[in-house]
Amino acid sequence: MPETIFSKIIRREIPCHRVYEDERVLAFLDINPIARGHTLVVPKEPAATLDQLSDDSAAALGRVLPRICRGVLAATGATAFNLLQNNGTIAHQAVVHVHFHVIPKHAGEAAKAGGAGLGIQWPARAIDHAEAGQLAERIKALLERP
Ligand code: AMP
Repeated sequence: MPETIFSKIIRREIPCHRVYEDERVLAFLDINPIARGHTLVVPKEPAATLDQLSDDSAAALGRVLPRICRGVLAATGATAFNLLQNNGTIAHQAVVHVHFHVIPKHAGEAAKAGGAGLGIQWPARAIDHAEAGQLAERIKALLERP
């Protein structure tokens, strides 16, 4: 995996506004927030995308994510947030080191002052049940055993 700016932040070679750290996970404020309190939660393991992450790092992330979200909400006063995790350039991933965005959704005046947060396009279509049945079976068959 290529060296990224997040590896340097994890090694403390580049500063960040750190909000949480343990053996496997680091969380810090995004340097270009789309809302006040926009926080990145990063495994220390250098995996490029979530599907490449080890079970141990995934478990460590899952264990602390809700707690970090609660801290961001409490500190910013937001009551809603989005959790965003991009994988691959065409999926808007710029830094090729797994990270979760915790993005508060502020309303009214707070949104004007602190950033509107995530805008979402959701191009939903009705599912094709015949194809979906086959696809679900195929995904099930290809899932790795733990
Ligand atoms: P993504 O598009 O999901 O890869 O998002 C990468 C995020 O990393 C962007 O929101 C950037 O603003 C953020 N970012 C890049 N460099 C830094 C840095 N040095 N400190 C904090 N956040 C950063």
